[in-house]
Amino acid sequence: MKYYTISEEDRELIRRGIETIRMCYDPVRKHHQVGAALRCKSGNIYTGVNCSGIHGACAEYIVMGAAVTAGEKEFDTIVAVRETAPNSLYAPCGNCRQMLFEYCPDIKVILNDAQGNIVKVTAADLLPFAWTAVDE
Ligand SMILES: [Zn+2]
Repeated sequence: MKYYTISEEDRELIRRGIETIRMCYDPVRKHHQVGAALRCKSGNIYTGVNCSGIHGACAEYIVMGAAVTAGEKEFDTIVAVRETAPNSLYAPCGNCRQMLFEYCPDIKVILNDAQGNIVKVTAADLLPFAWTAVDE
């Protein structure tokens, strides 16, 4: 698996995700526990929060939907952060890995490795043997 260098743009993306979850987290109802930030190849950044951690409305889905709705077609890098430890990055769940792979297998995903280091890899690397329409 190839690891990409974390750039200053990536650190800004992480900051945007943290700002988003700090703004949207609802401590009373425990709603919105994950924030995501997505940088498109246009340079535009979109942010979003999860609407349910149980039913698949992950922050990655919400932010991808916002970017696509705004007309974005090419995606560069995405990151998700937790409200419980805002400096901890969230690895995408399996469903999100598949979604990211389908939109853009080369999209970079920023996450923490097992030692807590910030790393950047491709969605394709996060989902070996991904399902594709060709498999039907
Ligand atoms: Zn997910």
